[in-house]
Amino acid sequence: PLPVVAIVGRPNVGKSTLVNRILGRRAAVVQDVPGVTRDRISYEALWNGRRFTVTDTGGWDPRAEGLGASISRQAEHAMRTADVIVLVVDSTVGATDTDLAAARILRRSEQPVIVVANKVDDERSEANAAELWSLGLGEPQPVSALHGRGSGDLLDLVLDAL
Ligand code: GDP
Ligand code: MG
Repeated sequence: PLPVVAIVGRPNVGKSTLVNRILGRRAAVVQDVPGVTRDRISYEALWNGRRFTVTDTGGWDPRAEGLGASISRQAEHAMRTADVIVLVVDSTVGATDTDLAAARILRRSEQPVIVVANKVDDERSEANAAELWSLGLGEPQPVSALHGRGSGDLLDLVLDAL
């Protein structure tokens, strides 16, 4: 079986956009409306000649359970099944309580966890990324999943961690 990279984070931070960026095609569904139920979907990816599985931990039904509970389940599932976990955070919003709750769980992970400060679309926004050191998971990686900025460096880091 291929090594598994799990993409986790709260709705609307850009997980599916990042998955599409990693795949180089639009396979994952990008939603402007958060909370649409789509469960974990895995795709086969290739970077620098290495194959791996990338899992888009999709949305959930916000009516069925609270956001905090969903994020906890998502993080715990990733810790059981993934070889590397990528926690995506919206750097234009900063660390929310939900992000902090996910980070608290992921700090116990035996697998490497990489924090992506997403939506760093330009150099001016880089400072937002540094604020995400507060999650206690090491250096936040500035990325624009939408435009591709920083995504190559991120993938190098992910594969180094595998
Ligand atoms: P998910 O719910 O975490 O899977 O988030 P999506 O990938 O569906 O993206 C949610 C919204 O954020 C969409 O409108 C995306 O176009 C937007 N988005 C995702 N990545 C970026 C980014 O790097 N920069 C900007 N400006 N918007 C982004
Ligand atoms: Mg999504």
